[in-house]
Amino acid sequence: MMLAPCRWLVIALFLSGSTAFAGDADSPDPTPPGTLDATPLPPLANPNDPSLPAKELFGRKLKPFAGPAHAIGGYADGCLEGGTELPISGPAWQVMRLSRNRNWGHPKLVAFLESFATRAKSVWNGLLVGDMSQPRGGPMLTGHSSHQIGLDADIWFKPMPDHVLSREEREFDSAINMVASDRLGVDPAVWTPARTELLHIAAGDPLVSRIFVNAAIKKQMCKDAGLERAWLAKVRPWFGHAEHFHVRLNCPADSPECKPQPPVETGEGCGHELDYWFSESVLHHEFPPEEPGKAKPGLTLAKLPHACRRVVMAP
Ligand SMILES: [Zn+2]
Repeated sequence: MMLAPCRWLVIALFLSGSTAFAGDADSPDPTPPGTLDATPLPPLANPNDPSLPAKELFGRKLKPFAGPAHAIGGYADGCLEGGTELPISGPAWQVMRLSRNRNWGHPKLVAFLESFATRAKSVWNGLLVGDMSQPRGGPMLTGHSSHQIGLDADIWFKPMPDHVLSREEREFDSAINMVASDRLGVDPAVWTPARTELLHIAAGDPLVSRIFVNAAIKKQMCKDAGLERAWLAKVRPWFGHAEHFHVRLNCPADSPECKPQPPVETGEGCGHELDYWFSESVLHHEFPPEEPGKAKPGLTLAKLPHACRRVVMAP
């Protein structure tokens, strides 16, 4: 298939661009409605087929691989051993879209979310938590290319309501788009500076490597932030991410096989660094040009770290 010239331009910019891009993509609607009667996927005819996309294997595992916690491989090509589950309701958070069974992570991520939710109480009623990882991490059948090693979490920009959400509400309530229709700024009808404070609290945690948001949101946070601004360096513009922010933790010390991200560039990233995102060729893209918002179809088990075979093949 021929690609439109604008796509080539974007690809060129993308390839020459910042390493901050590495390994993140959510679908344009990362919060599609779920279902109340999820049917299990049919078993695979040949799970040992070497050409089988690894997402078919990881997407069928409903329980974690027990054992000590290890994030194995890269954020967009790895898996998770010893994953734990974020309880679906806590004092300052609730998990959305339970049918996706993606509220799993490295124990450090679960502990971070619990503590962040509590610490943010002064500015934010509570977190609505979207996708983290599958029980054993790995590529997913729908949605992300990252979120594979239990260190990524999507959190809605909509605050948690004051009641315990029903299963129906968790599956069908909509997220709120923070970005104006021209995509040049936030929608003033919904944006509040409390959201900047919320990300300030998250970014201040040394466990956090990066936070991905839509460029219009980063631009607004640059305006909202006061004199203390160093934390803005961790807030990275990315495609999509208009209804949620994506928190990525650093590789934990217990995970020697975890591939770390390069450190974020110094500087708050509020100047000309943002221009690229508002250029005509990029502004209306929902995805990085090489990523249709899904795990790479060719990502077979052979392309993941060797240990991931053991993790996904165990019963
Ligand atoms: Zn995400």
